Amino acid sequence: MKTQSISVPKAPKEPFVRIVPLGGCGEIGRNMTVIETNDDLVVVDCGLMFPDEEMFGVDIVINDFSYVRERVHKLRAVLVTHGHEDHIGGIPYFLREFPNTPIVGTAITGALIKAKSREHKLGEMPLVAVAPGDRVRYGEIEAEFVHINHSVAGACSLAIRTPSGTIFHTGDFKFDQTPIDGRPADFAALARIGEEGVLCMLADSTNAERPGHTQSERVVGEAFTTIFSKATGRILIVSFASNVPRIQQAIDHAEKFGRKIAFLGRSMNNVLHFAREHGHLRIPPDILVKIEEVGALRADQVVVMTTGSQGEPMSGLSRMSVRDHPKFAIDPGDTIVISATPIPGNEKSVYRTINNLYRLGATVIHGNEGRAHVSGHASQEELLLMLNLIRPEYFIPVHGEYRMLVTHGRLATKTGVHPESVFVIENGDIVEFTADYGDKIGKTYGGMVLVDGTGLGEMGEAVLRDRKMLSHDGIVTAVVAIDAEEVQTIGVPDIVTRGAFYEPESEELIEHLRSHLSAMLATLSSDALRDTNSVREHVRATLAKEIFSRTRRRPVIVPIVIEA
Ligand SMILES: [Zn+2]
Ligand SMILES: [Zn+2]
Repeated sequence: MKTQSISVPKAPKEPFVRIVPLGGCGEIGRNMTVIETNDDLVVVDCGLMFPDEEMFGVDIVINDFSYVRERVHKLRAVLVTHGHEDHIGGIPYFLREFPNTPIVGTAITGALIKAKSREHKLGEMPLVAVAPGDRVRYGEIEAEFVHINHSVAGACSLAIRTPSGTIFHTGDFKFDQTPIDGRPADFAALARIGEEGVLCMLADSTNAERPGHTQSERVVGEAFTTIFSKATGRILIVSFASNVPRIQQAIDHAEKFGRKIAFLGRSMNNVLHFAREHGHLRIPPDILVKIEEVGALRADQVVVMTTGSQGEPMSGLSRMSVRDHPKFAIDPGDTIVISATPIPGNEKSVYRTINNLYRLGATVIHGNEGRAHVSGHASQEELLLMLNLIRPEYFIPVHGEYRMLVTHGRLATKTGVHPESVFVIENGDIVEFTADYGDKIGKTYGGMVLVDGTGLGEMGEAVLRDRKMLSHDGIVTAVVAIDAEEVQTIGVPDIVTRGAFYEPESEELIEHLRSHLSAMLATLSSDALRDTNSVREHVRATLAKEIFSRTRRRPVIVPIVIEA
């Protein structure tokens, strides 16, 4: 949230393409990149980020859309690589501001967007469904969707062709040679695109610091086999609803071990429904049961799959962990497999939930323990393979914290990308290419927009600052009554505090503040007293100064002026 000096040079007359990440560079989350040419502009992904623990009451963080807003006449489409929240979570907010922008992605990505946007009541959404291999054209920009592997079905890389050259965006990816759906990444298409020539590649840096290869989803299957053969009671598997390959593995293992499987929670059942509809899931007959039917089965015949791997307070798992779930109560004999790792920022709530599950006496297997989870992101050898397939002239590492971006940039140079052609950039940086040059030429707004509660109002950083102060230094309310006729204060101001002062000192201090305020008010002219805003400001400033000088604290001060 640092202030940044904004400088957006005028677009050149000759053909150009600009790449502007508005989020996701220097952090994990809220991925969004603008690709802009002379006459057209597309956005790749529009994600959200979960707030860290310092952001009191902020529910989600989205991107500053200023750069798009200023060029709205060129805006053609949002191209979506896949349906994870850090890529789609900002779309409802984007559509609220830029309605009817085509949102282009695979069918299952579209279904995930629809499910996530439901509470926003946007009506019919302008979703455009494509299949891997399809090309779409918006003005002078053409985008080809390329099948790759990731921890969600329907994930694609994008080859975006512009008059100034091709921009290749990997999206989130890994290379899985033995994926559950039997479809490894489309190596032929990747090689062809590399052969055709790529001006600049943007690539997923999540695991840029991890040497070797990311393990195949198949490994999770082996872990499930071990877990299923040991478990004598019920098995509860927790993952992201969008992790269709993981759902498939749970179903396959339930079948193999003669268990039935129930899916718990709306998002799980949504995904189950449309993944099946779009042919992403194989479900044997008679294996699905309703959660209500689980009670009638023997414990060793039951698998339940649900969400809540991030410790989300209202999720199925969190509620179960405190015995507050209406449909499922955890028994000491249950085995709980948390088939995911915490997203940065969520660790505390995840471990709180896990601790509670242990308290209930259940066996808990979590994280990478026992290989019950593998990453959906490419490690170094796969990143190198992607670089060698695409052979870009320029390289921009994205989707990672700064150190990951730097590491990924160094990897690129090992494959022959010139060090000066690697741009390690941050949100808001503008990279421009013409026939003559490729360079970082300026900076636009790349900051965060904080969304609170219902998400209907975006809140400013001032609100956040208030909440931070409230939690650290408490609140002081001062009530001043003014006689409107006589234009003078009535009695001594009242002061109420919460969490601001320590008990022993508080009574004496409050008395002092009251008389101090009275004295200040007595010095105000009748003109000043007539203006309630000015009285409020005087009260606030006087209290802030006095409280700070006596306690070194800065509580939130709420002056209330009543005219009687
Ligand atoms: Zn993803
Ligand atoms: Zn992502």
